[in-house]
Amino acid sequence: MGGTRDTGRPEGEAAADTPYECGVCWAVYDPALGDPYAQVPPGTPFAALPAHWTCPNCDAPKARFMALLA
Ligand SMILES: [Zn+2]
Repeated sequence: MGGTRDTGRPEGEAAADTPYECGVCWAVYDPALGDPYAQVPPGTPFAALPAHWTCPNCDAPKARFMALLA
């Protein structure tokens, strides 16, 4: 995970490896893991998920997810 972030990015902009959390059920999409249920390979950034991808836990659309910028 690493404690420091690249300061070259604008504040609030998610990196390719930024996990996203479902705003409905709090399930987390981790790009390092992908989504085996949706056949998304590990290493896929949230932004690269297909438009029809939904939360594997509650079927919420991508728009309900929020970046976890810890
Ligand atoms: Zn969900």
